[in-house]
Amino acid sequence: MNEMFQQALRAGDLDAIRRCPKADLHNHGWAGANPAAVATILGKTFAPLARKLASMAEMHAWAAAHFGNPDPKLRPRLFEAAFVRAAEDGLVRYEIGDDVWAITLDGSAGNVTDILKRAHERGAPGVEWIPQLGMSRHCRIEDIRRWMEPFLELRFYRTLDLSGDEFAQPIENFKPLYRLAKANGLRLKAHVGEWGDADSVRRAVEELDLDEVQHGLAAADSPSVLRFLADHRIRLNLCPTSNLMLGRVESLSSHPIRKLFDAGVRVTVNTDDMAMFGQSVSHEFLNLFKAGCLNESELDQIRENGLSD
Ligand SMILES: [Zn+2]
Repeated sequence: MNEMFQQALRAGDLDAIRRCPKADLHNHGWAGANPAAVATILGKTFAPLARKLASMAEMHAWAAAHFGNPDPKLRPRLFEAAFVRAAEDGLVRYEIGDDVWAITLDGSAGNVTDILKRAHERGAPGVEWIPQLGMSRHCRIEDIRRWMEPFLELRFYRTLDLSGDEFAQPIENFKPLYRLAKANGLRLKAHVGEWGDADSVRRAVEELDLDEVQHGLAAADSPSVLRFLADHRIRLNLCPTSNLMLGRVESLSSHPIRKLFDAGVRVTVNTDDMAMFGQSVSHEFLNLFKAGCLNESELDQIRENGLSD
């Protein structure tokens, strides 16, 4: 336990919280950068999202209006900004990468990976980087496989994530891709239970053999799914501000992280899309403390949950 961290929460001292070791295990590429940095690089002016949205469609519309489709030439600077943010936030572990689809932007898996490696070296060489491969639930399985294979051949990536509209296609469709990633030694994660129900979380864990779940907050609605997650030591990487701004929770004080924690589920606190929501991991911890959702020693345990696999 870290007494400095707990004291910093009690004092509401954001700088002191930043100085304590933390992880961010739920990110989406360069959207991990500060909003101001992204705005500067894109030559735009915008503030982080200030009002609650009602759907993923509204979120995508916001992203399209504010980020647009950045020139691929800007990708090295955008990713470097994400690593700079990680260092500023006092992260010691940062799980970030790109969607395998990016191979169509940069020409090869090696080029995509080199951009990430350089961004890490320049932006946050002291932060442990866990290279993550992403894929979208909207894409055709055969396309994803074609894009993914060259990345796996690099033997560099350590985790796999699936994001996008949870209802785009059945989770079972992704089974062969997860088997392939597992055979290549990757830790397995997927976005479920953000929009879907508790049973969808359990089904994804069982069908895809997941080690971790991104979000998964709907699990709190089912005592049997809570028990299943706790018994199998499945980690849930939660993003409280994202849940609030996308209308998945009423308030931070009533966030299901409380129920998940009490049920013995291993949870962590993360940012999702820092460039959109404007809240760092340090902010997220302080926000949960101020809302009275969890106390300082509980948040300290949650902080530690992210520091190892
Ligand atoms: Zn996410």
